[in-house]
Amino acid sequence: MALPRHSRIDAALDYLSPVALPVGQLVRVPLGRRVVMGVAWDGGAAEPAEPADPGLPDDLAHPSRPSRLAGPVAAGEVGEVAELKPVAEVLEALPPLDAGWCELVRFAAGYYQRSLGELALTVLPPELRDVDGVQLQRRLKRLAKRSAAPSTAGEVPGAATLPPLSEDQQAVLAALAASAPATHLLHGVTGSGKTEVYLRAAQAELVAGRQVLVLVPEINLTPQLEARFAQRFPAHRLVSLHSGLTPAQRLQHWLAAHLGQAQLVLGTRMAVFASLPRLGLIVVDEEHDPSYKQQEGARYSARDLAVWRGRQANVPVLLGSATPSLETWLNATPAPDGPGRYQRLAMPRRIGGGALPAVRLLDLQRVVDMHGSRVMREHPLAPELLVALRERVARGEQSFVLLNRRGYAPVLHCTHCGWKSGCPHCSAWRVFHKVDRSLRCHHCGFSERVPRACPVCGDPDIQPLGRGTERLEEQLAEQLPGARIGRIDADTTRSKGSLESQLAAVHAGEVDVLVGTQMVAKGHDFRRMTLVAAVNADSALFSSDFRAPERLFALLLQAAGRAGRDAAHAARSEMWIQTWHPDHPLYQALQAQDYEAFAASQLAERRVASLPPFSCLALLRAEARSQEAALGFLHEAARAAEALGAVQAGVQIYPPVPAALQRVANVERAQMLLEAPLRPPLQRLLAAWVPRLHEGNRGEHRVLRWAVDVDPQAI
Ligand SMILES: [Zn+2]
Ligand SMILES: [Zn+2]
Repeated sequence: MALPRHSRIDAALDYLSPVALPVGQLVRVPLGRRVVMGVAWDGGAAEPAEPADPGLPDDLAHPSRPSRLAGPVAAGEVGEVAELKPVAEVLEALPPLDAGWCELVRFAAGYYQRSLGELALTVLPPELRDVDGVQLQRRLKRLAKRSAAPSTAGEVPGAATLPPLSEDQQAVLAALAASAPATHLLHGVTGSGKTEVYLRAAQAELVAGRQVLVLVPEINLTPQLEARFAQRFPAHRLVSLHSGLTPAQRLQHWLAAHLGQAQLVLGTRMAVFASLPRLGLIVVDEEHDPSYKQQEGARYSARDLAVWRGRQANVPVLLGSATPSLETWLNATPAPDGPGRYQRLAMPRRIGGGALPAVRLLDLQRVVDMHGSRVMREHPLAPELLVALRERVARGEQSFVLLNRRGYAPVLHCTHCGWKSGCPHCSAWRVFHKVDRSLRCHHCGFSERVPRACPVCGDPDIQPLGRGTERLEEQLAEQLPGARIGRIDADTTRSKGSLESQLAAVHAGEVDVLVGTQMVAKGHDFRRMTLVAAVNADSALFSSDFRAPERLFALLLQAAGRAGRDAAHAARSEMWIQTWHPDHPLYQALQAQDYEAFAASQLAERRVASLPPFSCLALLRAEARSQEAALGFLHEAARAAEALGAVQAGVQIYPPVPAALQRVANVERAQMLLEAPLRPPLQRLLAAWVPRLHEGNRGEHRVLRWAVDVDPQAI
């Protein structure tokens, strides 16, 4: 007789199962009146066990796992479970999620302070939650049919058909092959051929019958990388995982990876949680990109989890970037007493010896001295830059004008009384969109027709202040008659497939001057582009966000990399930056194309200011109907942290403050920063503190929402 046995599900709930369930087994269990999916966890073990050999990067090692897992129960609130209910169905057709996957989820839940159940359920495909055994069988049959053609040990291309490697690529691949599994930073300038390194590294794993996981920061970068991998490895099954898939597609792709039928999995940050039973390599392309950090729910960093997963699975991790994040750069910097945590692999030269575009700093003060003060008020571009653009148009070459702000103008104002187009629901301006004559709030979505006259004084003279891509496009069309101007930003690419068709038009040479936001600056390979101009970069120079300089440097260098990718044009490719601050160290480093000098100066500043990577941060955010309530909750939370000995443990608690964007959709936001020199004391405190916050959110200090953000991107 099989003895009933507890299986831990959803971190909080126990169920009866007639047989011992393997850890990671997917089951369906009754919850309230519904039947929901669950993952068998720790068959009966009371506490999560510490892995025997953590083998984690020091900076992410979890010092002490919380003994109780905190956070809302994902599947719904259930009261006291007086009697254990039996498991409704074991999804036996699926092999259990492997130990590596379970450890990853357990680590992520603990580190980012979420409940195990919530995290497990959010990282599995949503469609899986409603699938019963019968439906699952049907899907598996369909999958088996599809994967019948390519065999698991598919063919890989022979050496003769592969493109020749540059010296840099050869050296990097040799170093990779010689190294034990580790985390490597592939620091390669734009156009140095990082993708070819990914392909070759992947090939070695595919030959050995292992799976390869490739992460990209944004969905719109997946198609081109997908195409390159699919073209190179036609005999291997490749699946993508990102939010653009239908729920059914996402489940099919997930199943293909989980069953080992797909050897290549390519996706956005969510793909870091793919179930990969034969994982052999993880690639994180553009590892510095902020999109790798989830901004709601479990606020995980897919880049950091990829590093953790690689260490834990003992497989190599390849972090690629032309402008690594300062965290990664520091980890890849040899310490005085030994090597860095990551191995640094450098590719400082472009393929085919093409030069990087020369960076020209156009001093706006000199432009004004020469042409008078009206010139920059009325025109977005200095006369010198217009001349350079006209030359390109005449030669049949393309240009890209980067302006990281969409809409026509960020705000409208009344010239008579000074009224400005604020959002009634947010502490933000509403952006003027000329195309439909609307005033739109980019934070809450509130939109209205532009008023005919000032709503305060009735004066009809309301004017745009500042400039967005829509206005820039209009002004360029006036100043470059005959040139074909195109624009790509979040507004022009709303409908499905529109980004692809607009990019195709640029590639086909149907656009002379492309106006766009950072969306265009990333990854795209425009062969005929010889000029990139940034027209309002200064606005990020003096931001209160401590990561703003790092972001700006990466964006500008990445944008510069769009020019001169074709060796025939490389010599006359340029990047122009219009600036009032040409002597700013950031621009100077950019002009010298010296990432290392920039990183060194930024790291020195961060060290002095005790900012990451020289300290560890966590942010407690609260949202409430009133600012007093939000701040009240945070003050209460601060007292709770002090009572837990935060200060003695070396965790500094900063006073609660209103958020930078204080009100969104009529909800008041406030935040409180916690800082510690090392992760262990901060993690220990959070583990003890977060459960108290759950208990404490009641009474007069009750807030609508609160969340802990570990390693926040912005503070
Ligand atoms: Zn007015
Ligand atoms: Zn709003």
